[in-house]
Amino acid sequence: MFVTDARVRAAYAEGAGIYRILPAAVAIPESQDDVVALVRQARESHLHLIPRGAGSGMPGGNVGNGVIVDLSIGFADLVVDPHARTARAGASVTWAEVNDAAKPYGLRLPPDPSSGAFATSGGMVATNAAGPRTVRYGSVRPWVEALEIVDAEGSVRILERGAGNHGSFTLTPDSRLLIPERFPKTRKNSSGYALDRFAETGDEIDLLVGSEGTLAIVTAVQWRLDPIPADVAGAALGFADLESMTEAVPYLVSLNPSALELLDESLLQFVPDAPKVACLLLIEFERETATAARGVVGDAVRGLKHSVTHVQTAVDRSGLEQLWSVRRMASPALARLPPTQRSLQLVEDGCVPLDALGAYVTGLRAAAGGRGISVAIFGHAGDGHVHVNALPDTTRDGWREALRGLFDDVTDLLIRLGGVPSGEHGVGRLRAGILERFYGPQVMALFRDVKRAYDPLSIFNPGVIIPATDWSPMTALKVGADAAAIPEDIATRLREVERSAAWATPKLELAH
Ligand SMILES: Cc1cc2nc3c(=O)[nH]c(=O)nc-3n(C[C@H](O)[C@H](O)[C@H](O)COP(=O)(O)OP(=O)(O)OC[C@H]3O[C@@H](n4cnc5c(N)ncnc54)[C@H](O)[C@@H]3O)c2cc1C
Repeated sequence: MFVTDARVRAAYAEGAGIYRILPAAVAIPESQDDVVALVRQARESHLHLIPRGAGSGMPGGNVGNGVIVDLSIGFADLVVDPHARTARAGASVTWAEVNDAAKPYGLRLPPDPSSGAFATSGGMVATNAAGPRTVRYGSVRPWVEALEIVDAEGSVRILERGAGNHGSFTLTPDSRLLIPERFPKTRKNSSGYALDRFAETGDEIDLLVGSEGTLAIVTAVQWRLDPIPADVAGAALGFADLESMTEAVPYLVSLNPSALELLDESLLQFVPDAPKVACLLLIEFERETATAARGVVGDAVRGLKHSVTHVQTAVDRSGLEQLWSVRRMASPALARLPPTQRSLQLVEDGCVPLDALGAYVTGLRAAAGGRGISVAIFGHAGDGHVHVNALPDTTRDGWREALRGLFDDVTDLLIRLGGVPSGEHGVGRLRAGILERFYGPQVMALFRDVKRAYDPLSIFNPGVIIPATDWSPMTALKVGADAAAIPEDIATRLREVERSAAWATPKLELAH
């Protein structure tokens, strides 16, 4: 289906994140053949294609003024092979669907994005998605065994892990030396093409994972699955200051937790009955026996008895669920903010080396305070990865300039601390123009070489990862008087999707 109807285009003008950009058209392929035909048409007619899953990605890789290719519907095949411990999932299949199908066999896909109810397999691969359990199991990259793609020639290709590189991009000996020098030493990274992994493995899959729809369209993913551990226990640990929390994190990571999450007081203030602490760490340990799981919780609490000011423990899954409800209650609380105070994802995904976590949170609080913008800070402490919801009052004069100032301050802060601008959400349009500051001109030139090798006509998602010549992070906002005009009823529905995280809603429904 290829649609140019104005209401349908409006329904696809927004994703999660800050942008509203009206596409020229929307294509909804139903098969790989449809995708092939679309790419060939794009080559002939100089169209730009914007691959898209559920639209829940934050930095604007899922919106643009070309043709949106909605892959969230037509690629729903899912087959679990319990013996091989794999799942072959079409691009539309969500994380939750993979896990529901794998669970009866005692298997799961361990990286667990909080958006798993709606994030598609194509979208997760394209952003190198991650979640709380990434501290132990990594981002999705190592869990991708094979990919089916349609490349920029309009050819179907199957890439298998271990099969090496049959693509058109190779690294010279000089660039192999440069990459380890220039790539930041963070535990997570979704900021640009993963040349560091590619240099190690020589595996083309490692270039495609995290490429944000700029190199090819993913039509199916072969996921590797893992047995679900038998037992779990955990704790909530409160700290009076950021310094003691930062010191605690490496110790807790050394105990091999399956999740180690941070809730800062800037977020806790929105949660009724939350403990009164400067920050809270939620920790989960998965083990093969209950004794082992409980034992390691004891080790954690004993090891930190001089630095924690609040301790609650949970010895089984339901107790842990209850303990973690404080994290789940934060999102609805933020959604209930007054209409003038928008939660905007602009500096929402920075990741720093673990020993810089406290300095990063301190710097974030100072930058936000200096710009007069409230923020809510939380994240994946065990990976040095911090989410920030900026909460500007959009009725206040100068809120845009303040927000842009915050973007620049946080970019400087991340560079100073050896961090990256995205740990899991990706670069999108939002961060394309700052990548060179993190990696330097030589690595940026390699990124451009990758793009040219895979997509010489720049069909796929121009302006994402490789910045447009007129890049600016703050144009085409969905908020404010100069937001692109779309029908009022569709704008209201899109806002409701955002507030209720209803990204699984088929976007065509919003237009009817
Ligand atoms: C409430 C909420 C919570 C979130 N929590 C997390 C979290 O815990 N962890 C996390 O990693 N992310 C999280 N996200 C961000 C988002 O859910 C992830 O980035 C997710 O992987 C995006 O999947 P999607 O299907 O929505 O993709 P989209 O948003 O539609 O697309 C994202 C990017 O992938 C590309 N793309 C999509 N499908 C394909 C395809 N088939 N082929 C090629 N390129 C494609 C797009 O071009 C775009 O650049 C959250 C978002 C929300 C709204």
